Amino acid sequence: MSDVQPLNKKQLIEVLSQTKTATAIHIGEEALIQMANQAMLTIWGKDQSVIGKTLEDALPELKGQPFAQMFKKVWLEGITISGAETAADLEIDGEIKTFYFDFEYRAIKDEFNQTICILHTATDVTDRVSNRKLMEEFFNKEIALEREQALNEELAASNEELNAVNEELAQSQEELLTLNETLERRVEARVKELSASETRYRIISDELAAINEEMTASNEELALAHEHLKETFDELEDKEIALRLAIEAANFGTWHMHSESRELVTSARLRELFGFDAAHEITIEQALGQITEQYRAYVAEKIENALHGNGDYDVSYAVIGFNDKKIRWLRAVGNLKADKSGEFSSFTGVVMDISLIKKDEQRKNDFIAMVSHELKTPLTSLNGYIQVLQRKAIVFQDNFVNSSLEMAAKQVKKMTGMINGFLNVSRLESGKIVLNLSYFSLTDLIGTVVEESRLMETSHTIDFQSCEHTPVYADYDKISNVIVNLLSNAVKYAPIAKNIEVTCTIINQRVQVSVKDHGIGISAKDIGKLFDRYYRVESDNQVSGFGIGLYLSAEIIARHNGTIWVESEFGDGATFYFNLPLHNGNVKS
Ligand code: ADP
Repeated sequence: MSDVQPLNKKQLIEVLSQTKTATAIHIGEEALIQMANQAMLTIWGKDQSVIGKTLEDALPELKGQPFAQMFKKVWLEGITISGAETAADLEIDGEIKTFYFDFEYRAIKDEFNQTICILHTATDVTDRVSNRKLMEEFFNKEIALEREQALNEELAASNEELNAVNEELAQSQEELLTLNETLERRVEARVKELSASETRYRIISDELAAINEEMTASNEELALAHEHLKETFDELEDKEIALRLAIEAANFGTWHMHSESRELVTSARLRELFGFDAAHEITIEQALGQITEQYRAYVAEKIENALHGNGDYDVSYAVIGFNDKKIRWLRAVGNLKADKSGEFSSFTGVVMDISLIKKDEQRKNDFIAMVSHELKTPLTSLNGYIQVLQRKAIVFQDNFVNSSLEMAAKQVKKMTGMINGFLNVSRLESGKIVLNLSYFSLTDLIGTVVEESRLMETSHTIDFQSCEHTPVYADYDKISNVIVNLLSNAVKYAPIAKNIEVTCTIINQRVQVSVKDHGIGISAKDIGKLFDRYYRVESDNQVSGFGIGLYLSAEIIARHNGTIWVESEFGDGATFYFNLPLHNGNVKS
């Protein structure tokens, strides 16, 4: 080995020059180029003329690039600096281009650790970098493309979503618009309502104020009324005392009956009148038990009517005393008054002893009956004589005698009618009136009576509209009396308007007859009493009469299960009606 000579510096440089790796040797802080092989020169784009020049002189384009500084650091600090794919701008063929290098600046030191040179190796990796960059660019582009595509898709999706949102938005907007309109309308309506309410409120306010005023006035009135009431109450108390005294003085009996429980509370005098022991209370049944059989049912019915009808009660009846067996005639007058609770009524009244009056009446009736009866016989013979004279007078054809006899016959007939009336009243009173029933046509009867009346009452005209089929089962003479009476009243009480209308109608299985005049009429206060015995309306120019015609007519119609009534206004004529039940059988003549 000893004959192998170590390479000298020059040889070493020669060797380095041969390497394919681009190699250069620099010295000093300024990186003076000692050696650069061909590969390095190719990288630099220079020739051998750069040998012996500083780096900056050899490669002035490196000015402003970090390489000179790196060389200085390596030289001064004896370190190695390497880089990979480091970009360097080099002037090649008069053009600055960027190249990439893997490089190393390595400080070569002697045995004293002193830097003697810098070994600079470099590999041009520009192609690799470029390729990689191209690749990267390509991939980047691909990725960008993909991203773009994804982005586009996302965009499309977003667009769609956006569209949907837009549509929703449009819809919402529309809804919003409608809502707005509705709201506006509601607001408008509410405003209107409010203004109406305000007006109403104002009206109510005014009304309230008026009511308030009224109330104040009413309160004052109330206070006055209260005072008045107190006074009235005191007066009432006085009156009650006076009434009690009057009742006692008149020797009236009093009673009080509960409409529901029928409990009867009577005064001692009432019990006395019924012949009971004055100290013990009696029941309604006990009281009714003492009424004579003739009146008992009638009184019981009147009590029921008073309790459930209009409350008016005015009856006269005979009782037989429970203990003393004495017959007394009593008149009871009562009235029904609803209790404040509204649950029951009080039926109260007074009972008076009318035995004396009854006795007087009886005497009067007996007298009238006797007189009527006595008058009837001479009147019948007078009538007979007149008829005989009439027949004889026809032969002599003396008009004066004829008409005088006719007048006499009329007057006798009138008188007979009056006397019959009185007789009938007394018969009625004593219960001796008997109906002589037969089948006949009421229309025919009315026709006959109207004909007779036309002959008797020549001053008036009587129209009659007859009915077709009016069979009745009744007392021919008594019904005839009723019609005669109504017609003669129509004549008597219509002195000026001389027309009388008689009609006959069938209503609900009843035949209804009406007699209408256009005379003085009847006032409301008299209508209710017209059918009472001896009742006559008071008037200035009194027409003669006894007030028994309508009383008898009502009794006769009632006994035939019929009804009689009148419709009239004072000064405007009167229409009297009565009805009788129709008989379904054939009329036997
Ligand atoms: P009289 O006619 O004999 O007085 P009535 O019993 O027939 O008795 O009549 C009773 C009263 O009714 C009469 O007094 C009269 O006041 C009144 N009256 C009867 N009919 C009519 C009539 N058609 N128009 C006006 N008043 C009448």
